[in-house]
Amino acid sequence: MERTLVILKPCTIQRGLIGEIIARFEKKGLILEGMKMTWLTDEILSEHYAHLKERSFFQRVKDAMAVCPVIVCCWKGVDAVNVVRTLAGATNGRNAAPGTIRGDYSMSVQENIVHASDSQETAAIELKRFFSEDELFNYETKNLLSLYAND
Ligand code: GDP
Ligand code: MG
Repeated sequence: MERTLVILKPCTIQRGLIGEIIARFEKKGLILEGMKMTWLTDEILSEHYAHLKERSFFQRVKDAMAVCPVIVCCWKGVDAVNVVRTLAGATNGRNAAPGTIRGDYSMSVQENIVHASDSQETAAIELKRFFSEDELFNYETKNLLSLYAND
């Protein structure tokens, strides 16, 4: 089992897509281990997007991530990192395949709905960046039908 970080970006919150995007991951069969709303600082964004610091759009990307709070999620599952990256689709929403989250909801490279960790190593670092251990929950997912048996 792997854990991975997803951030629902401000564009997702502002467009009223929170439920729809979370539903994509839920319906796929990933398990939600943690979720919270948080307003990201320029400091944490500089760390998170350090790989873009030489790019002309670095500050613009950080500013766009701080126009309103975001929702950070920890999803768990077999091969969760790759599964979530595949669900997210290509970075540029205009190139992302239909059926992917970015392909279905975004016409932008910057306002592309979600952040998703790109490797297991990055996921471990990013989860530590946004969650403390007591904000992540390890629990059994029971088949609802077995719960109804004693109704
Ligand atoms: P990701 O892993 O698919 O999110 O892509 P990257 O790690 O390469 O870039 C991080 C984020 O920076 C992307 O999700 C976009 O929001 C933004 N970004 C990437 N490339 C560009 C660009 O050319 N222009 C602008 N404005 N933003 C970009
Ligand atoms: Mg990336």
